[in-house]
Amino acid sequence: MAGAEKRRLSRPGTDGPHAVSRSPFLLGDFHVHSTFSDGKSAPEDVVLAAIARGMRYIGFSDHSHTPHDESYCMRKERAAEYRGVIARLREKYSDRITVLCGVEQDYYSDMPSDGYDYVIGSVHYIRAGGEFCEIDGRPERLVAAAEKYFGGSIAALSEVYYETVSDVAAVTGADIVGHFDLLTKHNGGGKLFSESDPVYISAWTAAADRLLAGGRLFEINTGAISRGYRNSPYPSAEQRRYIFSQGGRFILSGDSHRPENLCFGFEDLVSEPGLITPEEFARGLKGAE
Ligand SMILES: [Zn+2]
Ligand SMILES: [Zn+2]
Repeated sequence: MAGAEKRRLSRPGTDGPHAVSRSPFLLGDFHVHSTFSDGKSAPEDVVLAAIARGMRYIGFSDHSHTPHDESYCMRKERAAEYRGVIARLREKYSDRITVLCGVEQDYYSDMPSDGYDYVIGSVHYIRAGGEFCEIDGRPERLVAAAEKYFGGSIAALSEVYYETVSDVAAVTGADIVGHFDLLTKHNGGGKLFSESDPVYISAWTAAADRLLAGGRLFEINTGAISRGYRNSPYPSAEQRRYIFSQGGRFILSGDSHRPENLCFGFEDLVSEPGLITPEEFARGLKGAE
């Protein structure tokens, strides 16, 4: 991405105090990390930043515990504290913003996903040869996993990835399918594999069909753009077209780890077909205002 383009994307709402309120799609973000997992800011600082931006909804979605990798996730014994802290913030700022407590539930988490306002179901690892292979990590690790278990073919690896994704709602109880094609994180320009490979296309189509049959909402996630890994959101434009054509709906997600990335790039996505607003999402949740 050109530097100027990236700077423009990274500063939504800076062209005037009312810029944020122009579109109802910019009034909330439900994929947000805090210091309870790998976010850089305490929840209250995130809430204050959201209020300062004119947002009306903020939902925390810290990472559920994964026993095989504790480097980024919530410690098991802190889950109750997390819910308590967010509940207190919800109360404290209730006249200014609706604060929700969700979780980004990994497919291989060993913690329950009940007790949250909503669940984002995400696949960050696949199992191959009894090993957890990281999908979200450095590209060399993905290439190494493909070499070791899939004859060097990332398209073949994608079959296992999307089989896992197809099951993510059933396993995690997800309301929202997280970063559907996370596997493409480092595949800008097709440098790791071809996304036109029929094996790849049929793998993701089958996963999308199964999730759509369950009526799941998909996120359009800009987190890898704000962190400089990609120029376009998850899922890919082709996947979004397919999902929408099959009746799927989307919600915008910043997947922010810093408050300045709340609602990152949303202003460029407000015309996406099939979007629901933050207000519609919050209204549909049990117990939400
Ligand atoms: Zn994730
Ligand atoms: Zn996330």
